Amino acid sequence: MSFIKTKTIATLGPISKSPSIITELIDEGVDVFRINMSHFKNDVDFENTVKIIRKESKSKNKYIGILVDLAGPKIRIDLNKEESSIKINKNQKYTLGYSNTNDITINAKIDFKNISFKDAFVKIDDGKIVFEVLSKDKESLDIKATDDGIIYNKKGVNFPGIELNIKSLTNNDKQHLLLAARNKIDWFALSFVRESKDINPILKIYKKEGFSFPVIAKIEKPEAIDNLDSIIDTFDGILIARGDLGVEMPLAKLPSLQKLIIEKCKKIKKPVIVATQMLDSMIENPSPTRAEVNDVANAVYERVDAVMLSGETAIGKYPLKAVKIMQDILLNAEEEIEKNITLHEDSVDINRNIRSAIGESVKLISRHLEIDAIVVMTESGSTAVVVSHFRPMNNIFALTPNESTCNKLSLVWGVIPLHTKQFSSTDEMIEESEKILKTKKLLKKGDTFVLTSGVPVAVTGTTNMLRIHKIS
Ligand code: PGA
Ligand code: MN
Repeated sequence: MSFIKTKTIATLGPISKSPSIITELIDEGVDVFRINMSHFKNDVDFENTVKIIRKESKSKNKYIGILVDLAGPKIRIDLNKEESSIKINKNQKYTLGYSNTNDITINAKIDFKNISFKDAFVKIDDGKIVFEVLSKDKESLDIKATDDGIIYNKKGVNFPGIELNIKSLTNNDKQHLLLAARNKIDWFALSFVRESKDINPILKIYKKEGFSFPVIAKIEKPEAIDNLDSIIDTFDGILIARGDLGVEMPLAKLPSLQKLIIEKCKKIKKPVIVATQMLDSMIENPSPTRAEVNDVANAVYERVDAVMLSGETAIGKYPLKAVKIMQDILLNAEEEIEKNITLHEDSVDINRNIRSAIGESVKLISRHLEIDAIVVMTESGSTAVVVSHFRPMNNIFALTPNESTCNKLSLVWGVIPLHTKQFSSTDEMIEESEKILKTKKLLKKGDTFVLTSGVPVAVTGTTNMLRIHKIS
């Protein structure tokens, strides 16, 4: 049975929250749903959506991940009630800040720190309206418009070249985090991460509440690029948020930044996601542009874990078609890669440890011997992530007694999560995995798999065993 190895994340929004669309999106190939907290009216709306995803995925017998996106220090235009937009004239000066004495008001009190006025800008609505920064007060800026335009309420505001003294987790985020945790989601993503320490307020809540969920850092600020290594080390995964990144950094740098981030994630073996505008024109049109098709395929060639749809599935006219076309592109690019893989590809592993050594060996064995699948026994999922990072050709069946690990692994390249009981011995493990794979018709009599696990079984972090087994 063949599976698409690059995973698909679809953002849910107003057009895609109903049970029927969620089921159809799963049928078309979605592996993970992203829930952007700003799209939800209230707690009940959120809880219902989580329930629908769990119910529909159960009925499809497929583990689907839920990724909750926390807005973080995202700044928005916050106009007075009587205004719905402001007309901006080229070369005119304005003040911008939280207090309603300013011409342009925003939703957060910001202490503007270091500014080099030469390279500082204020960009509104994905960079559609750009202002030069002339001078600063403690909590406001004097700015000059570089073009005519109209500012609409709630649009995003970016401050490239300006350091903002602002918390990484807002009070709203804290409420969202608690709500999502109560509903047992699988991943968090934190927006506008600037440094590795930005995870601390989340870890503090985890400690206080006695729970824990993996956190993905969204890379969309120049400061995050400066601190990339420590951020990748600290967070559980990385999302290349090309929307805001392209506003905060020169657009032409996006391709090389994408490559740089992916390379670093591969070395440290953390899941990496490419996001934003992948099939953007499909928000309006039933087929993508040629450039978009190339962009999606390119992410496959760069061997990312997952690609993400945003507006295409949240507010677009063709959410199902977008997922379908994405699957087509992923499949074609993956087939092309597999045709061209050579037997003597060099290993790129730099941080050697037992788990990596096993991961690399699994790939080599599966490539050089007649192997039909890779089976990983995993409690937390980390061994599956490491084995996946060597991008072996065979399917990776991750067997785990934790349903939450199954959901979480739906985001990881090439991994097909399967739920099992807790094993008490290696013999039982082999016997049971054989049974599950046969019952689900994933493997048959005479097939051979390479299995990795930790011994003694059921202890996290002990990956140390590799076995080759033929199904009898
Ligand atoms: P957003 O993040 O959709 O939450 O803004 C993605 C991006 O900036 O690319
Ligand atoms: Mn963003």
